[in-house]
Amino acid sequence: MDLALQAQIPVNRYRPSAPLRVTLQSIERLTAPDSPNDVRHLVLRWQPGEFNWHEGQSVGIVPPGVNAKGRPHPVRLFSIASASDGENGDGTTLALTIKRFFWTIPETGEVLPGLCSNYLCDAKPGDQMWMTGPVGREMVPLDWTAPMVLVATGTGIAPFRAFLQQRSRLAPAQRGRCLVVFGAQTADDLSYRAWMDGLVATDPLLHVVYARSREEKTSDGRRMYVQDRLRHHGAVAWELLADPRAELYLCGLKGMEDGIEAALADIARQHGGDWPGLRQRLRDEHRLRIEVY
Ligand SMILES: Cc1cc2nc3c(=O)[nH]c(=O)nc-3n(C[C@H](O)[C@H](O)[C@H](O)COP(=O)(O)OP(=O)(O)OC[C@H]3O[C@@H](n4cnc5c(N)ncnc54)[C@H](O)[C@@H]3O)c2cc1C
Repeated sequence: MDLALQAQIPVNRYRPSAPLRVTLQSIERLTAPDSPNDVRHLVLRWQPGEFNWHEGQSVGIVPPGVNAKGRPHPVRLFSIASASDGENGDGTTLALTIKRFFWTIPETGEVLPGLCSNYLCDAKPGDQMWMTGPVGREMVPLDWTAPMVLVATGTGIAPFRAFLQQRSRLAPAQRGRCLVVFGAQTADDLSYRAWMDGLVATDPLLHVVYARSREEKTSDGRRMYVQDRLRHHGAVAWELLADPRAELYLCGLKGMEDGIEAALADIARQHGGDWPGLRQRLRDEHRLRIEVY
């Protein structure tokens, strides 16, 4: 990873004090109507030239209203799920993948809706909202020909959707090998699965595998998590990661890193490799990129 190039990636064109007004073009529920998980695909639109970004960046959304002290609510960050030429390919739209979030007051057990995710999931086409960003340089790939291993849980698939959309718009010679390992509770929660399976059919260097923790078991009877599926495809993962340009990206639930690292240590042992050594090289060369929340 070229740190000088990374440092040039523009950030924070729009700050909370002067956000960009965007319009909700469309909103679609990705999970089944009876699923306990409500995940939605939102497309936001603005005027030509007002916003641009790199794959792997996020935007901030300013929730409406004010807090108990009468101050604006802090922005919430959401990964951009579209390639940098936009959802529609003309640079004036981007998609977000929003999970309707609920949290519990520990003292009372009362369940409350998260402010911004519920605002977004309840929004209607034509609604206007305030957006900041782009935010973050850490997850931005700079070389699409480098081998990539992408591991996602839940809405962590959002930035990888942007990567895969970008891949699909590049000429075949501009794409490297890519393994996506995506975990969620059920098949219904595997957002964009049909779309990704369609990409695999036309992109021989792309490999996408899934883990459904509430529907699949490992051979020793445990729930099948994303790290278990990664173990099944350890040979491919190890082959890709052995390349000195390879990049490993993890995105999704906080804490997922531990399971993935344990799986990679097992995979390394099986292939006569050294995971601590490789992890150090990946970290030193900024080829290990993690975004968890
Ligand atoms: C880089 C990044 C990328 C992200 N990408 C995505 C994405 O692609 N998709 C996605 O769905 N999410 C994403 N998130 C998570 C997102 O930013 C929000 O954290 C999430 O949607 C919950 O926000 P909310 O406003 O709905 O919940 P909030 O209302 O902010 O509630 C969240 C937590 O705040 C605390 N809290 C809230 N109100 C109170 C209160 N009155 N008193 C005490 N505690 C309180 C609670 O601990 C609660 O669990 C991302 C986060 C980061 C950092």
